[in-house]
Amino acid sequence: MFFHALAGCLIFMIFDIALGRAPSWLFIAAGVVVAYMPDWPYVIECLTRLCLRKKLPINKYSHVHRDGIMHSLFFPPLVLLLTWLAIPEYQVPVFFAVVSHSLLDLWGIGWGVKLFYPFSKKTFKLFFQGKWIVALSPQELETIVEQKGDDEWLRKVYIDFNSPDLFWWYGPVDLATGAITLSLIFSTKVIWG
Ligand SMILES: [Zn+2]
Repeated sequence: MFFHALAGCLIFMIFDIALGRAPSWLFIAAGVVVAYMPDWPYVIECLTRLCLRKKLPINKYSHVHRDGIMHSLFFPPLVLLLTWLAIPEYQVPVFFAVVSHSLLDLWGIGWGVKLFYPFSKKTFKLFFQGKWIVALSPQELETIVEQKGDDEWLRKVYIDFNSPDLFWWYGPVDLATGAITLSLIFSTKVIWG
């Protein structure tokens, strides 16, 4: 979850440094927001439900927010085109931040990504079932989610640190990644200012 934040942060920071500019915390924070772009509709849905005090869509079917064009490899070129039209000076970091999202969703928590949607509905996942990469049909994915999916995954991974079906270290390492991102953002002016 927080690996997206670190990726966006680093990509925008490297872009500023490559151009010989002193990175500003605001620009790096923007990189974090951009890196979550494929999840924006899901985040907005969660925040809206939180405000309306409705049940959050966080359960064993949370992965369905990855179904669709925004997590597919066809989305970053679309974003590149729109950025080129609107803010061409930022097309490079925006493109790489958005690409990083789907690639990071290939592993860790969740069941992977439909990389070639809408042309293929297969879900790709790294380091799964003893293989480097697997391509699951919608039926195969449904069977796995029914058998191994857990409505309490968020608590087990990030609070109890008890995720038997995942890498046991994922929760603590991901939280540490979030902390590193925040410290990079807040220490930027101290380092380069
Ligand atoms: Zn995602």
